[in-house]
Amino acid sequence: MSDYDVIILGGGPGGYLAAERLGHAKKKVLLVEEQYLGGTCLNVGCIPTKSLLNSAKLYLHARHSEQFGVTAGNVAFDWGRVQAWKDEVVTTLVGGVGMAERKAGVEVANAHGTLVGPGVVEVAGERKTADHVIIATGSVPVMPPIPGAKDNPAVVDSTGLLGLESFPSRLAVIGGGVIGVEFASLFAAFGAQVEVIELLPEILPFADTDIASKIRKGIQGVTFHLGCKVTGIEGSTVVYSDAQGVEARTEADVVLMAVGRRPALTGWGAEEAGLETTPRGVVVDDTMRTNLPNVWAVGDVTGRSLLAHAAYRMAEIAVAHILDPAGAARSGQVLRTQTIPWAVYSIPEAAGVGLTQAQAVQQGLDVVTATVPLVLSGRFVAENGLKAPGAVKIIAEKDSRVIRGIHALGPYSPETIWGAAAILESEYTIDDLRQVVFPHPTVSEGIREAAWAINN
Ligand code: FAD
Repeated sequence: MSDYDVIILGGGPGGYLAAERLGHAKKKVLLVEEQYLGGTCLNVGCIPTKSLLNSAKLYLHARHSEQFGVTAGNVAFDWGRVQAWKDEVVTTLVGGVGMAERKAGVEVANAHGTLVGPGVVEVAGERKTADHVIIATGSVPVMPPIPGAKDNPAVVDSTGLLGLESFPSRLAVIGGGVIGVEFASLFAAFGAQVEVIELLPEILPFADTDIASKIRKGIQGVTFHLGCKVTGIEGSTVVYSDAQGVEARTEADVVLMAVGRRPALTGWGAEEAGLETTPRGVVVDDTMRTNLPNVWAVGDVTGRSLLAHAAYRMAEIAVAHILDPAGAARSGQVLRTQTIPWAVYSIPEAAGVGLTQAQAVQQGLDVVTATVPLVLSGRFVAENGLKAPGAVKIIAEKDSRVIRGIHALGPYSPETIWGAAAILESEYTIDDLRQVVFPHPTVSEGIREAAWAINN
């Protein structure tokens, strides 16, 4: 008999949610976490960034409140207190995860775990056995071999930037993906001079380019250098060749390296145990099974999607198949990456789900699209005025009218995008969507407006 029903390696969103669900199902579970319960997301990812962004948004609101008839005198921010609020939120939520695991009867080991083989894990040097093993070791930041970057105290990754004790007056960001854009927006909102250097012709490559370019233009106080290749870092100066191949320089106090993250595939026995991996992650099927019997992988380590809510979903799928394989197969518990929404909590914020127009065309789909400005929403105008950036774009197949993508820029979009995901999951047509009643006045009415704006 095994020591445990399930051993889970990694206590981030993928690992802790799987542990909790299995614990509630009366399984004997060991959750092995070597650093911090809550993983990247709670400690150095989603939650601390959103806490800082909230302070930045409050600061901006207070500074620009006069147009709404409210005058706030002496608006200022205190970086130390902004950081303290972030730390308080993180501590509270990490504590909440610990409590949830205890409530679910999960045993948590604060230790390094190593996969030895199917059903065998070494925890702090001691062998433990289990009927199932779930790998949820997450991801790590990519540090490209740019001359001058390594061991340079001015160059930080996202974790380093989150912990800055003093506020930098100039920030250079290498990489215009979600992490780079959120930090750029955040530091610019607090008044830093921010420049983003991005290799591709547009930021946020997963977003529809119409929406991505609107986000870029909507973010105040950030200079974006697109199509530029960084060739070196000298002290805290980033050297790059611009879109014409001409050398240019950005002087900064701090340089954020934000060129992406990669699955954490080493240091825990993947290769030795015979687990199939590629540089993109642990190879899993759509039920999160790996090539080894009863070894599952969920979250960033699979490379299927590097988002916390995707890790949650992968955890639920693996758990469903562990608890009741036949039932999980019957109810279609599989990962559908095409309906996982993305969100960027920049100022302004944005979110989307499904295909971009370019992806639809690449797939050979004949599509119709509509993009509407959010000034069609009364609530949007009341809260932001007519000049604020905001738009919704819908992409649908021309003949069937089935909706394939919804992308939105504007306030609350990360809050409402789940509805768009449900629309895509249910394969709604434009005509189905037109029959849905949206509360008025809401910013989400932009989705309805886009459905009515699409070609008949
Ligand atoms: P992780 O959260 O990385 O957890 C893996 C855990 O495994 C870690 O705690 C690690 O210590 C542990 N571990 C690894 N190896 C071992 C071992 N051998 N033994 C024991 N423990 C081990 N996603 C969103 O959806 N929304 C956001 O707004 C968002 N913002 C982000 C902002 C930043 C700055 C960053 C860096 C990421 C952000 N993400 C966001 C991504 C999100 O954090 C990840 O997708 C999510 O944390 C993945 O969860 P996971 O469980 O797969 O891995």
